[in-house]
Amino acid sequence: MAFAAHLRWICAAVAAIVAATGCGGDDGPYLLRCNVRDPGCQQAIFASLASLLAAEPENRPSIRVIAPEQLRAEIERGEAPFTLPTEGVEQRAFRAMGFSPDTEGDVYQLAIESIVRNTTAYYDSGVITIVERDYEPGDVQFTLAHELVHAVRDRELGLPDLTALPSSDQLSATRSIYEGDADYFAHRWYYEAEATPLTRSDWSYINGQRLDDLYLLAADLEKGFFEAVNRFPYVQGMYVITQLVQREAENKRRYLMTNPSTNTYDVLFSSVSELGRGRPTYEPTGVLPPDGYGLVFTDELGAWDLYVFLRRLQPAQDEGSSGWSSRQGYSVTRPNGDSFDISPAEDWRGDRLRVYQRDGEVVAVWHVRYRTRDYLDFYDDVLLDMVNDSSSAPPFSAARRTSEDEVAFVFAETRSSLDEWLSQPLIPPSFLASAAKKSAGSKRHAGPVCVKRR
Ligand SMILES: [Zn+2]
Repeated sequence: MAFAAHLRWICAAVAAIVAATGCGGDDGPYLLRCNVRDPGCQQAIFASLASLLAAEPENRPSIRVIAPEQLRAEIERGEAPFTLPTEGVEQRAFRAMGFSPDTEGDVYQLAIESIVRNTTAYYDSGVITIVERDYEPGDVQFTLAHELVHAVRDRELGLPDLTALPSSDQLSATRSIYEGDADYFAHRWYYEAEATPLTRSDWSYINGQRLDDLYLLAADLEKGFFEAVNRFPYVQGMYVITQLVQREAENKRRYLMTNPSTNTYDVLFSSVSELGRGRPTYEPTGVLPPDGYGLVFTDELGAWDLYVFLRRLQPAQDEGSSGWSSRQGYSVTRPNGDSFDISPAEDWRGDRLRVYQRDGEVVAVWHVRYRTRDYLDFYDDVLLDMVNDSSSAPPFSAARRTSEDEVAFVFAETRSSLDEWLSQPLIPPSFLASAAKKSAGSKRHAGPVCVKRR
């Protein structure tokens, strides 16, 4: 069960360490077993982490430990830095897209439940909050180290205002840099505290395990879409930061902290030297909305969301020769015996989600631009079939090609409105540019947030 949103807090360490070796029990190193409520323990952890980050060991941030029920009460009173979604067009759009496993229920309450259940800690404006859990030995100290990295970066460079970013894609990409940085240095700190510093092959093992788990999560239909979306920044982010550190690209790491990537494609596929390059804005073609539909909001979801969406679609039974063959590769065998692999996320070149409403009906159209016209000429049947022939696509969804380098996924709440949209003609970009100007403008997913309050 997840609520339909990209998390906007930069603070929760959602999963603990992958153990490359044993970890501190009662007789383990002091730093990995001390009581994080104790100021002596807090200072010792902060001082050793500051030394690792070449930061000042003085003035440690204030650290408090609260019970989950206190977190719930603070959220309900509006005192915790999480904004909550309200039932509305966005939630309905995400349900139509199959992103939310909750077909009913109060999204506000579901979001609170999810935060209370999943948040281990967060950092906000100089204060670290740790939520009491049944932690394994060493885990809560690791979590504290992760939050302390955020606090140190905040002093050094300032943290970005995540609520000001223009798209969900940019939000995930930005969080990847910060969460990857915090997870990377928390791991280093942890293993140095154990006096077993990580070697290059340890790093490669740990990153490999975490990536394997992330891709399993993406394919796990028991879990909500947004679980894989919200896990991405930690896992792919730490992988990227590891590459930067191992290549001694310290300047690049600092550059990315203040100029994070604008899209998850960059975080997934760019080489170290290419990281942080922006992408040109993509203005999709589109489907002419049927009479009466107004554009309510737009967003860009990015390559990772596209991957998770497609990965969760099961091929129809008679497509037995097609399927996911590796983390990213989708293997296809044509009736004539030709076989090949495509990588639908790596071939992403831009996307735009547009959500429309008419009377009580909500329709989402997700335009995805692919590499080239030649590419789509050759593979569009594969991409369209992934949705149109899937046994697990959302009930009122369909894919169609909308221009030479673009496909659109259409999601409706009823069969009749889907059919109405699928019979619509395509339109030139100029129409939508003017329609977007007239609408309330771009609006991103509502969701929990961890903003910095000054
Ligand atoms: Zn964090």
